[in-house]
Amino acid sequence: MSREERTCAACKTHPAHLSWLCVGCRGDFESQVQRLPRLRDELEAALVKSGGRPSGGGGSAIAAPLPINLNASDLLADLAAWQRRAWSLLPAGARRPGVTLAGVVPTLVLLPLVGDVAGELWWLYERTRRLAEPPAERVGLGRCTCGADLLAPLDAHRERCSSCGTVHDVQALLAERTARARAVAEADYADQLLSPAAIEALTGGRVRAERIRQWKRRGKLESHPGTAGRPVYRLGDVLEVEGPRGGRA
Ligand SMILES: [Zn+2]
Ligand SMILES: [Zn+2]
Repeated sequence: MSREERTCAACKTHPAHLSWLCVGCRGDFESQVQRLPRLRDELEAALVKSGGRPSGGGGSAIAAPLPINLNASDLLADLAAWQRRAWSLLPAGARRPGVTLAGVVPTLVLLPLVGDVAGELWWLYERTRRLAEPPAERVGLGRCTCGADLLAPLDAHRERCSSCGTVHDVQALLAERTARARAVAEADYADQLLSPAAIEALTGGRVRAERIRQWKRRGKLESHPGTAGRPVYRLGDVLEVEGPRGGRA
């Protein structure tokens, strides 16, 4: 078949057009290469952001007090490596004074390796974007099977383990984590005397307040006098009447 009908080396989905990239991937690649100076600025700003303020404006990042943001410093190093690699793919004469990578994109897209190069650049931008996310938005989900700690934004669906690459179902792991935390809380509070509403809240709505009063009326559960004459219940007793988790009470 003709040159125009090969598959895009980046997305490996769409037909590549007069190069090794499809129209969409080429547009992304071009704009990302053009934004490289801004990416570098962003990373340099991020480098010092989390490590307190550099004394006196206008200084270089190196003048900033430690600790610097190590993720940003990794990204800066990876960006420099990516730029060296992109230049190394080009013919010897391509690197002339005044010529930027944006100026040689038309040559780069003719190389089969541009698929990898574009993918790596996309990943650099993605990692930079994640850098800007407030750390509180990422929550611990426990450990991956490889032993690495798993962190993900609360609203994520899937997250790839940064260590071994395994993809995890974030919402399922969050549900497990919540259930574990609840079980611990229930064990800790077993001897506490609580109102039905408090018990409902503590069990995440699993044991309804109305149910507790019902058990009391049926003589399954003993209440204790609480403040203002309102009956309170020992959490451990309530959980015992509830029976094994998942079973019917
Ligand atoms: Zn593509
Ligand atoms: Zn892993």
